[in-house]
Amino acid sequence: MSSSDETEPQRAKQRPHAFSLKRLLKLNRFEMTGTWCCVRALLVTRCTSSSRNILCRDSSSPYLSIYQRRYKHHFRRYASRMFQNMGKIQPATSDLSCKSHKLMLYNDILSPCHPGAFSLLPLGQRALEKLIQVIDEELEVTGAQKMSMPSLAPSTLWEETGRWVSAGAELFRIRDRHDLHYCLGPTHEEVITSMVAQLNPLSYKRLPILLYQITRKFRDEMAPKHGLLRGREFEMKDLYTFDATVEDAEKTYRSICEAYCRIFDRLGLPFNKVSGATGNIGGSLSHEFHLSAEVGEDKFLTCDKCGLGTNVELLDKQSAQSQCGRENCELVQSTGIEVGHAFLLGTKYSSVFNAIYQKDDGQPSLTEMGCYGLGVTRVLQAGIEVLSTEDRIRWPNLLAPYQVCIIPQKEGYMAEKFRDMADSLSDRLGELPNMRGEVVIDDRTHLTVGKRLYEAKRIGYPFVVIVGKKALETSPQLEVLDVYEDQTTFLSETQLCQKLSTVETVL
Ligand SMILES: [Zn+2]
Repeated sequence: MSSSDETEPQRAKQRPHAFSLKRLLKLNRFEMTGTWCCVRALLVTRCTSSSRNILCRDSSSPYLSIYQRRYKHHFRRYASRMFQNMGKIQPATSDLSCKSHKLMLYNDILSPCHPGAFSLLPLGQRALEKLIQVIDEELEVTGAQKMSMPSLAPSTLWEETGRWVSAGAELFRIRDRHDLHYCLGPTHEEVITSMVAQLNPLSYKRLPILLYQITRKFRDEMAPKHGLLRGREFEMKDLYTFDATVEDAEKTYRSICEAYCRIFDRLGLPFNKVSGATGNIGGSLSHEFHLSAEVGEDKFLTCDKCGLGTNVELLDKQSAQSQCGRENCELVQSTGIEVGHAFLLGTKYSSVFNAIYQKDDGQPSLTEMGCYGLGVTRVLQAGIEVLSTEDRIRWPNLLAPYQVCIIPQKEGYMAEKFRDMADSLSDRLGELPNMRGEVVIDDRTHLTVGKRLYEAKRIGYPFVVIVGKKALETSPQLEVLDVYEDQTTFLSETQLCQKLSTVETVL
């Protein structure tokens, strides 16, 4: 009997937990267990909220109602209500060894919890979400799909590859009540390869498979330091690829490396791509992506003339010099923060878990794998490290938590007028598609404009708009600071909208 021949009761019998919506809503209070209560509450909430949308929809275009509600809602974000400028005083000298760490602590982006672990505060979280958006957009181009795997990985899987032992003390290990062992995954080759191995038979037509996740990773660092640069708990993007042949895997490898380059380009972060060591992960080909910074822990050699780039772990200066392609080659050694790593794994993991596919002649063959890491929270801090000055954050392009800070005149003469102008300016800017949710009004009018401007620059808003006395003139002018370009101009509201409408934003 095919599934389409089944009657409804038969189906319900096969799936005893599949209740209809009607049935769920009809269940009376006594029948309901806690779970049903929750499910019912959810259903009821969804029904009532959609009927609210119907009630307030614009009769001329009913299908736009939900979107209009989102877009036309004038949400104003006031600095006085935000978790920032909480009164921490930036010390003149600090024993914190790195600039970005210091800037993130004193601007309420990070809060330390215990060694190597931090709370990411609202400004930091918003920047992180923007970064994730950029990564998602660029990986989507490669055909990769996002998923998520459990952080708890069973020791049995890690024992199969021998990494339960070889990973050593860096692996966080946990034992459950049944005396089973797990690790808090720092990487997920075992989990994903065993999953793909279960897709049997897997036709060659379904390859390549590109799957990635952006999740919390754990590493028991001996000496965590520099905030998010070397922590014990961090956000990482890990992508795993499965191809039919070595050639296909190399093609995938190039396309992912290109996506990495696009990500750093869009963020406006100068980077170096160099040959890397394969380490504990293994494999045949590997590249590292570095941002140049003194606090980095990696040393690498690059040559502008022939394009050679290598980690010194892999090739010392002498052997690198011999590999340089041209006569007047000049190797330069730099220090960098490793933010990304690409590995061509071959069949190292697919052979352990028997992750095979069926070739067009029906014969089984091992999949050729690749894995690609990107330290997401590390990129966030490294970007700040590279671009900022000692006392002012400069965010990578696109990642500023908010693009615009509006500062109305200090309280006093015509205070209410200035406040209203700031509010209406925020509403108008919020209507620009790229500026939606990007505007903050610094309503702490008991402070001078200068004090608030200083803080806005320190937090790193790319644009500050001061609503001052010139805004009261017959042709009102706003003082507009392009903070990163260090330029001040006086613009009308319309000119400001034109200027800001060209700024690229994400979210
Ligand atoms: Zn060279």
